Amino acid sequence: MTTPMVKAEGVHKSFGAAHILKGIDLEVAPREVFCLIGPSGSGKSTFLRCINHLEKINAGRLSVDGELVGYRQKGDKLYELKDSEVALQRRDIGMVFQRFNLFPHMTALENVMEAPIQVKGEAKAVARARAEKLLDRVGLADKAKNYPSQLSGGQQQRVAIARALAMEPKLMLFDEPTSALDPELVGDVLDVMRGLAEDGMTMIVVTHEMGFAREVGDALVFMDDGVVVESGHPREVLTNPQHDRTKSFLSKVL
Ligand code: ADP
Ligand code: MG
Repeated sequence: MTTPMVKAEGVHKSFGAAHILKGIDLEVAPREVFCLIGPSGSGKSTFLRCINHLEKINAGRLSVDGELVGYRQKGDKLYELKDSEVALQRRDIGMVFQRFNLFPHMTALENVMEAPIQVKGEAKAVARARAEKLLDRVGLADKAKNYPSQLSGGQQQRVAIARALAMEPKLMLFDEPTSALDPELVGDVLDVMRGLAEDGMTMIVVTHEMGFAREVGDALVFMDDGVVVESGHPREVLTNPQHDRTKSFLSKVL
């Protein structure tokens, strides 16, 4: 059996007294496009943030590509990883947020070059060559010298995707990547994501774009109030939801 790219078993997360993730179980296979949908506040972002070391889980097991996130297991004991080891795990995961968070004082090209140089100590020429290729891949070869303020939201988001890809991640996390965009700019970003999927990238996509989920997704999970309510093939879940909560949510977004 192949190792799942992400495996969550009974994952819990609380903020103080607020119990947010209440036992999440799911598996994301390599090369899968895994869509996560659910109402605002259901814990989707928190779950992605746990995968990417931005939050620590309180109970359960969470692993990426067979390695526990933030821990090493010896026998039946868990040891917390050192910061340097956490950094190594994080490098393999790319994340794209609703807000693009580009460095405002750097050009598109410099934004994409930055992490490999700073984090991996890569030679500038190597980073530049890759960044040029990546900007081309997201359709922005001609915008390499532009600053974020000179780009549309959709273009900035595509630079953000290129920037995440520059670290050559084995997993990409997308947290509502098109929610902040004007409607006419959404398609270009989804096209880039579709291309990534075709190239075999493993992706977890939190989205309200049900068309994308249906056409590109391999799996879909509906989450509500910190639990997985329903999961299956996107076409199945979207056209034939089994649970009332799923039906009610879909009736609002479809
Ligand atoms: P979603 O992405 O599904 O909209 P979130 O994961 O962002 O949901 O949030 C789920 C719940 O967790 C919300 O009620 C939110 O207020 C709460 N929450 C998220 N992050 C924190 C935090 N750092 N401290 C306290 N509460 C938080
Ligand atoms: Mg969210």
